[in-house]
Amino acid sequence: MPKKGLLERLRDGVVTGDGGYVMALEKRGFVKAGNWTPEAVIEHPEAVKQLHREFLLAGSDVLQTFTFFSTDDMLDIKNGQKFSCSQLNDNACRLAHEVAAEGDALVAGGITHSQAYLQGKGKAEVQAVARAQLAALMKNKVDFLIVEYYNIIEEIEWAIEEAKKCGLPVAASMCIGKEGDVTGVSPGDCAVRMARAGADVVGVNCLFDPIMTIDAIRLMKEALDAQGLRPFLMTQPNGFFSTGTDRYGYLSCPEYPLALESRTVTRFDVHKYARAAYDLGVRYIGGCCGFEPYHVRAIAEELAEERGKLPASSAKHEPWGAGIWNSKYQFISARANREHWENLVPATGRPGPASSHFKELQ
Ligand SMILES: [Zn+2]
Repeated sequence: MPKKGLLERLRDGVVTGDGGYVMALEKRGFVKAGNWTPEAVIEHPEAVKQLHREFLLAGSDVLQTFTFFSTDDMLDIKNGQKFSCSQLNDNACRLAHEVAAEGDALVAGGITHSQAYLQGKGKAEVQAVARAQLAALMKNKVDFLIVEYYNIIEEIEWAIEEAKKCGLPVAASMCIGKEGDVTGVSPGDCAVRMARAGADVVGVNCLFDPIMTIDAIRLMKEALDAQGLRPFLMTQPNGFFSTGTDRYGYLSCPEYPLALESRTVTRFDVHKYARAAYDLGVRYIGGCCGFEPYHVRAIAEELAEERGKLPASSAKHEPWGAGIWNSKYQFISARANREHWENLVPATGRPGPASSHFKELQ
C-alpha cells in the first residue's frame, strides 16, 4: 500500500517531526562543530542510521535526510570539498529511506541556505545552488521537501520557488524569532511571503527555544489569517533555552555550541511545547538542534490521543514518570506521578539560580 503523503497526513491529523541531527551527531563524535556538514552519511553511515531509527521509534512520522549545509559552496569552505553535495545527498537519501521503510515514516529531503546569497550573487546563482541540492533529493525519490534554516526572507523565497518546480509538497521554515529576519522583516510578513512563494507548510525551526518559537509562530498565524492564507504550520524549535537572546537566538549564548547542556529542555517541557503548538493550530510539530529522541517521544506521548497511538519506544517509558513506582527507594517512587514532573522547576545543579522561565507556557 502506498504511504499516505504529507499533506494528507496534515489534513487528517498531526505529524510528528524528528529532532536535531548535527548537534546529536557532534556529541557522538561524527560531526565537527563549526562545520556542521554531513560527511557522516559516508564516513559513519551506521551512526546516522541509528539516529534515524531512534527518532522513528520515538514517534517521528518524518525522517529528514541528513543533508544540512550540503551545498557545494559551503562544503568547499568547510571541508575542502572532500565530498560533493551530490555524493552526500545520495547517501543521505539512501540511509533515510532504509530506516523509513522500517516503519511508516516519510522521507523529507532537506535543503539549507548557501554562501551564494550573502556573497551577493543574485537570484539565478542562488537558485542554481538550490537546484544542485534538490537534484540528488529528487533522483532519490524523497516524499517531500523541507527548505529550512534561512534567516533572510528573500533568500528563502527564491529557494521555495526553485523547490516548487520539483512538484513535491514544500515545507518552508525560517530560523527566526518574534523579532523577525535579520533584515528586519517581521515573522508575520515572512510567513505571508513564504506562503505566497508557494510553500505548502510554513513555520520556524532552530535557533530559538520552544517558548520563543511559539511566540514566533503565533505572529505568523495572525498575519496569515489576516491575509486569508491557510498553509499548514510547522515548528521545529531548539531543545535549548534561549530566553533573552537577540535575533540570532542561541548562537548568541556564550555556551553555544559546546556547553549548552545546562540549557537543555526536559521531556516535560516538551509536553508543554507540543500542547501549546497543537492548540495554536500547528500540525507539523518536531524539533531541531538539541531535540534528542526522548524529546520527540514526549511530543508523540503528549499527542497520543490526537495521533491515535503511542510510539514504539513508549514500551520502555510510562508517561509522566509512572514507571518509577517500583523504585526500591520510597523517596523516588513518590515521584511516580504527573503532578511532580509537571510542576518541577529543574535546578541546573550549579551554584546560581535555577531555570524557571518555562513557566511562561503554563
Ligand atoms: Zn537546528
